[in-house]
Amino acid sequence: MKPVSVTFLGSGDAFGSGGRFQTCILVEADEHRFLVDCGASSLVAMKKRGVSPSTVEAILVTHLHGDHFGGIPFFLLDAQFSRRASPLAIAGPPGLEARTRAAMEVLFPKSSETPPRFPLRFVELAPEAAAQVGPLRVTPYPAVHFCGAPAYALRVEYDGRIIAYSGDTQWTEGLVEASAGADLFICEAYFFDKKVKFHLDYQTLAAHRQSLTSRRLVLTHMSDDMLARAAEAGIETACDGLVVEL
Ligand SMILES: [Zn+2]
Ligand SMILES: [Zn+2]
Repeated sequence: MKPVSVTFLGSGDAFGSGGRFQTCILVEADEHRFLVDCGASSLVAMKKRGVSPSTVEAILVTHLHGDHFGGIPFFLLDAQFSRRASPLAIAGPPGLEARTRAAMEVLFPKSSETPPRFPLRFVELAPEAAAQVGPLRVTPYPAVHFCGAPAYALRVEYDGRIIAYSGDTQWTEGLVEASAGADLFICEAYFFDKKVKFHLDYQTLAAHRQSLTSRRLVLTHMSDDMLARAAEAGIETACDGLVVEL
């Protein structure tokens, strides 16, 4: 099997904790490149790491919060001005296209009305129904997180490799299924032990650790609280620039 690499271009939360970029995970395999989430700072994060946006063929979105999809208007504007020609698919929860177009209009008026120079396709994913997005098989699992639309954890399969990502969610048994047997499970750990609605803390995750069967588990989307106590965590933590080879 050819190598698949996962790069954390952004491992941060919505608040810039630790000076980290907002969620943006790059997956590279063969000639394929795709993003999992595209937070508001993602275009900067990509260019900082020398990743050409025009080589990204799909953006998968867990949920419609700015730190997970807010970079898409910038990505699309850059694509238009840099004369991107290659097709782009953007896949995520129901409401993805309307919310993206609304965000584009707020940030760059008329940008959503301008026909793109490249084939652009939105794919709205139904819960627990596998969908094919280019070479990827994507299965969304319901997350417990309020964002004005359904929120998902995603299970992504490519060439025999499985990558799962929790998105933002409080603990739900769906995470067990989404990450079952995965090569890599990327999971939110927002606080160390503080319990809040709609988010996961490290201790809750650790209590469910035995039910998770991924080969590797990496924590991300950490607040200042969690970052300060990351050394106490018995689970690997992400940082911007971390590369995981699968
Ligand atoms: Zn978030
Ligand atoms: Zn969120």
